[in-house]
This record gives sequence, structure tokens and C-alpha cells, in this order.
Amino acid sequence: MIVMTVFAHPDDMEVHCGGTVRKLSSAGHRVIEVIMSKGNNGGDEEVREREAIEGAKCLGVDRVEFLNHEDGRISVDPESIDAVRALISKFEPDVVFTHSPNDTHQDHRRTFRIVTSAVSKFPEVTVLMGEGPSTVGFQPVVYVDVTDVLEKKLEAVRVHRSQVERGAISEEMVMKTAEFRGMEIGVKYAEAFEAFRISGSLLLG
Ligand SMILES: [Zn+2]
Repeated sequence: MIVMTVFAHPDDMEVHCGGTVRKLSSAGHRVIEVIMSKGNNGGDEEVREREAIEGAKCLGVDRVEFLNHEDGRISVDPESIDAVRALISKFEPDVVFTHSPNDTHQDHRRTFRIVTSAVSKFPEVTVLMGEGPSTVGFQPVVYVDVTDVLEKKLEAVRVHRSQVERGAISEEMVMKTAEFRGMEIGVKYAEAFEAFRISGSLLLG
């Protein structure tokens, strides 16, 4: 299976679906990480790019693709949609992980809109949306037990030192969310996802 993650900023994949990504990569699936913006509002772009590459390595990501949107100003336009569509066409993912539309961060909401427009011509692609500190009214339908990979997820979060230091993300927040979602399905730690679309091709192989 080919997995693609499309998130707005360099630390989003780790926070929203790092445990699931680690599980999938460990099982031999190829993971492509797309990052819309290098996050110049939250720190130095070069530092954040390095942190993203380090985080990706922790989680077994095969390849990181940076798109060059300005932080805070990701725009939903034909060029943005075409760029993501071209990556979907190139890598042919079975499943794409992205942001929930119910998120107070404008870049996150817009990334969701870009992704859902980009997949419109690929009905076989499943699209799941992850949870982060700025999601609101999250309504998960898919849960992944990440108990055995939580340490790896936390390690991948920690490598985003510039963001941990400024308090944008924390291990505690990630752990508490995983604990809460775990409780909902009766395991120690879980990641939860909303679904835009679950394609039968994912379920039937
Ligand atoms: Zn973000």
C-alpha cells in the first residue's frame, strides 16, 4: 500500500498521525509526506525543514515533498490544487491523511479543501483526517491502536525542538489526546480519524 500525508506545517504529520504512519511504515508500506509550508511564522524555515526530515526519519517516511506556501497564507486556488493532484497522480496513494475541516487554523482548513479537491478525480483514494491541538468538534470514525508505537511518535514530536520550545506542541498534549482516544476503544493509546471518504479498494486490497 502507498500512504500519503498532506499537512500544512512541518510538525503536523507527527502530531496528527505519527503513530499510524510508524505502524504503516513498519508493516512495509511506503509513506510519502507532503508539507504545504515550511512554517516561516513559527521559526526559521531551514531549521523547520531539518526538523521535518528528522521527524520523518523517526517514523519511517520514505520521502518528504515540500510545497512552497507561505505560512498562514496557504490559498485554495487552481495552482495549489494542481500541485497536490500532480503528487497524487505521481505516487498513486491508496490512502491520504490530512487535516480536519473543523480546525481553527486557516492553513489547516485550507489544506483539507485543497486535498479534497485534488482527490476528486481519484475515487479509489481513501481520505482520513487527523486530530491536533487546533481541531474542534472532532468526530472520529476510524481508530488506530498506537500503544506499541507511542514512544516513537513522542520521539518524532520531540525532534521539532523549535516548536516544543515555543510551546506550540508538547509531548503531554500528544499523550493526553492518545490516552483519551485510547479510552474510547479500550486500549492504552490510540489515534483517531474522521473520514472524508473510505474507498472499498482500501478495504478489499
Ligand atoms: Zn499546522
